[in-house]
Amino acid sequence: MLHELPKAYEPGAIEKRWADYWVQEKLFSVPTPSSGETRPVFTLLLPPPNVTGRLHMGHMLNQTQMDIIVRWHRMRGFITLWLPGTDHAGIATQMMVEKQLEREGKKRREMGREKFVERVWEWKREYGGAILDQMKRLGASVDWDREYFTMDDNLSHAVREVFVRLYEEGLIYRGNYIVNWCPWHETAISDLEVKHEEVAGKLWEIRYPVMGTNQFITVATTRPETMLGDTAIAVNAKDERYTHLHGKKALLPLMNREIPIITDELAQPEFGTGAVKVTPAHDPNDFEAGKRHDLPQINVMDEHAHMNENAGAYAGLDRFEARKRVLHDLGEQGFLVSEKDHTLAIGKCDRCGTIIEPRLSEQWFVKIKPLADRAREAVETNEITIVPENYRTIYLNWMNNIHDWCVSRQLWWGHRIPAWTCGSCKEVMVAREAPAKCPKCGGTKPEQVPDVLDTWFSSGLLPFTTLGWPEKTRDQAVFYPTTLLITAYEILFFWVARMIMFGCHFMHGHQQDPAIKRASGWGNKNNDSVPFRRVYIHALVRDAERQKMSKTKGNVIDPLEIIDRFGTDATRFTLAAMAAPGTDIAFNENRTEGYRAFANKIWNAARFMFMNLDKIGLDASARPRPNGKGVSSFACSTLEDRWILSRFNRVAANVNEALEAYRFHEAANTIYDFFWGEFCDWYLELIKPRLNFEEGGDRTIARATCANLVNLFDASLRLLHPVMPFITEEIWQAIYEDKPELKSIALAPYPRADQQQFDLAAEAEMAILQDLIVSIRNLRAELKVEPKLKVSIEVFAHEPEIRTMIEHNRGAVERLASVEKLAFVDHSLAKLAGSRSTARFDVHVVYERKIDVASECERLKKELDRLEKGIGSGQRQLGNEQFLAKAPETVVENLRKQQRELAVLRDKTVSKLKELGCS
Ligand SMILES: [Zn+2]
Ligand SMILES: [Zn+2]
Repeated sequence: MLHELPKAYEPGAIEKRWADYWVQEKLFSVPTPSSGETRPVFTLLLPPPNVTGRLHMGHMLNQTQMDIIVRWHRMRGFITLWLPGTDHAGIATQMMVEKQLEREGKKRREMGREKFVERVWEWKREYGGAILDQMKRLGASVDWDREYFTMDDNLSHAVREVFVRLYEEGLIYRGNYIVNWCPWHETAISDLEVKHEEVAGKLWEIRYPVMGTNQFITVATTRPETMLGDTAIAVNAKDERYTHLHGKKALLPLMNREIPIITDELAQPEFGTGAVKVTPAHDPNDFEAGKRHDLPQINVMDEHAHMNENAGAYAGLDRFEARKRVLHDLGEQGFLVSEKDHTLAIGKCDRCGTIIEPRLSEQWFVKIKPLADRAREAVETNEITIVPENYRTIYLNWMNNIHDWCVSRQLWWGHRIPAWTCGSCKEVMVAREAPAKCPKCGGTKPEQVPDVLDTWFSSGLLPFTTLGWPEKTRDQAVFYPTTLLITAYEILFFWVARMIMFGCHFMHGHQQDPAIKRASGWGNKNNDSVPFRRVYIHALVRDAERQKMSKTKGNVIDPLEIIDRFGTDATRFTLAAMAAPGTDIAFNENRTEGYRAFANKIWNAARFMFMNLDKIGLDASARPRPNGKGVSSFACSTLEDRWILSRFNRVAANVNEALEAYRFHEAANTIYDFFWGEFCDWYLELIKPRLNFEEGGDRTIARATCANLVNLFDASLRLLHPVMPFITEEIWQAIYEDKPELKSIALAPYPRADQQQFDLAAEAEMAILQDLIVSIRNLRAELKVEPKLKVSIEVFAHEPEIRTMIEHNRGAVERLASVEKLAFVDHSLAKLAGSRSTARFDVHVVYERKIDVASECERLKKELDRLEKGIGSGQRQLGNEQFLAKAPETVVENLRKQQRELAVLRDKTVSKLKELGCS
């Protein structure tokens, strides 16, 4: 007895087993290739998930697409490196650990920085691997030997090196800037970490006395407490209402400070009064206006969003308490003009929900323009291509309107900025290692600045730091530039653009080993400094109703739960099959259930194949086996052989083309239609008689048929493998169970189309045959022929060759359409009842419905019963005075009509029962 697959296909156990096997066998580990290696290289960097992360549908889609592309390249003979790792995720991780401490009644600040950071590392060691374990479950074929964490020593070293070099080149500076400030986290956060909400708020109008006149100028604000930091009032130069005030001063109420009235485009005549207050330290637009007019920046809040000493009498108050008091005082002193309801968009910290305060603070910046210019050029000149094309435009627009990048964060967890401040003279020193003394005053106690770097700073370096930079390594020579990046739109700017900037800058002059073959069609290859040749932006996964998934809506689909129910293969297949370019995926688990059935279908087909192999090969050595390459050893003796071979090669061509263009849905659906439709439903059915040597068949023919079958099955599994890696591995391993040297289907060659095998004639003939069989099946259904009953048919072939072809395949028609007798006629059958007419043939099913009297009587009696019940309940209603009084006329009329119809049906049924002589 040879291999026997279990009866039922149970993805859970199978998938777990192979996922473990792939990791244990290090199947996807890529040692550094030696010099002289000429195979083409395919490198892809995993967008590192946050170390705090849990797998969500976005990851699942992203990783499915990456794994399909990666497995496909590997099978095509590329040296394929997929580099995995996790991001230390500064704010997210810090907060997670702070919450943990909170539960123990401890606080970060009481603990101190060093102990806290140690605690985060402990957390990381214990829980940080969760998301990678989940990735393993997905079958992601990454090189686990190269797994990195963005805070690893070597990567941290590279981060310091980059920072110092940029500083030395004058591309890093310190400055005051308006940042999104989270008072709870006490740090600046990026735009990405701010979520905006529309809320019902208020708009207050405040009037400021104009100096030297008895007039007032009125401004509107939603944050009145910031007026304490006003340093000007702006009007538009074109606004004639205010021409007479140009050059005058106003008196800031409550603070009694004189502030200038300036002209600036910040004030727009069509909005409000046309005059605006300018608070450079607390609003980003005012900050820019302040720079244009050289206004003082007066910061009135501290890092907890409490008013500070600049806020006069309000110092020490929380910002919202200060707001109340300011409004009260303004009202009392006659400066408050009005209070109106107003819908406003407020920014909240995405992590803790605290309202963001735009706040002026000293931060570290990367001077972005020189880096952005080069990064824009790399895309403009197609050194990097971005697909779909519309994202290229978005990227270029963004690079044209880019601001300096604030890279400092006031956190404890992250890459600490390599800068020290002299305790005596406050000199700031940026250095690779801690300086022993101050170069300016000789002070010996320089202290490292407390800030850490934005996580995008370190992740922006990954394409080269993971390959050994700043050393020049063989890995870089081979794997840099990486080939492809597959990622989500939401991090196009934050991550992708930064990688391009840093890559072009720090890898300037780099050359990939020219001996390595390069895949064609990968953009302009004159420049090897770019971090990747191509960026593919994938869609979003939405719920089945096309709603964006969100925790608040409660419509988040957990991929792991879907996997538990239907298997990873079916889940992956769903995401691939639904990923049509340019549209988001409306994830519908009914589809996944359908692909689970697809896996089942393949499973059953495999069982059928093994059963026949066993029947034919009395021992293992006698068993026909595939050559592991293609379907080249396929022996064609029949129409269906020629046809399936042609179809397979055509499908292989289509699938390869689709994957080349990231048309995942097309690749998946093409394989599905072939495997289920053509291979399982047609080919397997057509060859059954040839396999059946026990019933007087020919053993040699059966053997040859089996050989073809296993060849084709093997090749089809390889075709499907990148999308459904687990079931294909399971069956493929069963085919090759006595060849352990073939370690995995993942290392077997991917089928390529052999155009020699395209056979148009066979495809055309088979199409006619299928058409005939389907026509007969449809006619049978229309005529309500009992499934088991064999019928006679008449066929009129329009051309003699077609008649010959059908004659040749008479057995198939008779078997697959339950035909007892197939007779050819030489006249048209189109006009007969029970016939179907096509361009090639007419077919007529000869059938007169025979009735099983007993069961028909049974059916009619049930029908009569139903009708009488209906009539009875209608009569009751129509006899009910109350009902008649209340019901609308149309309802009553409809009911009467229904009664008449029921009565007619009842009479008909009664007479039929009589006709049949039912008792
Ligand atoms: Zn926060
Ligand atoms: Zn000093």
